[in-house]
Amino acid sequence: MRPFTYLRAQSPAEAATLAAQVSGSRFIAGGTNLLDLMKLEIETPAYLIDVNDTGLDRIEASQEGGLRIGALVRNTDLAANPRIRKHYGLLARALLAGASGQLRNMASTAGNLLQRTRCPYFYDPNQACNKRQPGSGCAAIGGVSRQLGIIGVSDACIATHPSDMAVAMRALDARIETIKPDGSTRSIAIADLHRLPGTTPHLETTLMANEMITAVTLPAPLGGTHLYQKVRDRSSYAFALVSVAAVLQKDGSGHIALGGVAPKPWRLESAESALPQGARALTEQLLAGATPTHENAFKVTLVERTLAAVIAQARAQA
Ligand code: SF4
Repeated sequence: MRPFTYLRAQSPAEAATLAAQVSGSRFIAGGTNLLDLMKLEIETPAYLIDVNDTGLDRIEASQEGGLRIGALVRNTDLAANPRIRKHYGLLARALLAGASGQLRNMASTAGNLLQRTRCPYFYDPNQACNKRQPGSGCAAIGGVSRQLGIIGVSDACIATHPSDMAVAMRALDARIETIKPDGSTRSIAIADLHRLPGTTPHLETTLMANEMITAVTLPAPLGGTHLYQKVRDRSSYAFALVSVAAVLQKDGSGHIALGGVAPKPWRLESAESALPQGARALTEQLLAGATPTHENAFKVTLVERTLAAVIAQARAQA
């Protein structure tokens, strides 16, 4: 690990200002992904700005009838919150499907959104990786790609976003609140937070330099049946091959987001009109234009079967 300077911020504004005053800084909360990346020297920040004292650890009712989740709320606490469990059940389920108990105790809401891909070549400095080293190539294309993406990918990168929580938040139409070093704030739809790789896979979000996530807001409860189905190689502590986050209403409408298939939580609102026609029609629309590799082409069928299982479960529960 490279030497770094450790700073502690006492407020979100101070954290963003500190970040702008020094070169090469990163915010740290739980550190469950960043510290691993630093040990491997994939991330080499000169300054670590600890944001754990910034007071962003509350879950509060919003004026719009939803919830405002502080950026530092730990994944365990978010999953256990009574309002989350009652009104946003798929979010609690997605959180509990992710990582391990120890990691969920440390991992923060903002850090979960900003965690980096688990593509094995990204973590191996001996391999070509456009995300780690722009212009170096992509060892995953033509390599071991079973876990990697099938839609939204590019000739430069086929990595997936690893979060379960973010998939549920996409289905719930969450928004991301931020603060910039000049003190200004903004709200970003979660659909617009993560970028597709295109020719610049090292640019993963639309956050500006030193812009800090302060909260995630959820709209008023959507009602309906909430399900999160994650398919993986083993039953715990594994990333999704495919996941489905669903809010399904009795009239056949609903929100559907997919995980494990794309560089960001994958949702196409226009595809949701195909819900009443069943899983095959929905899959055809959600995955139109998919470009799987020979190793992960099975994910197309897996998406259809997982959607079918979720739709059947929702009907049984309705
Ligand atoms: Fe790197 Fe993306 Fe290729 Fe993986 S898929 S090796 S993260 S460029």
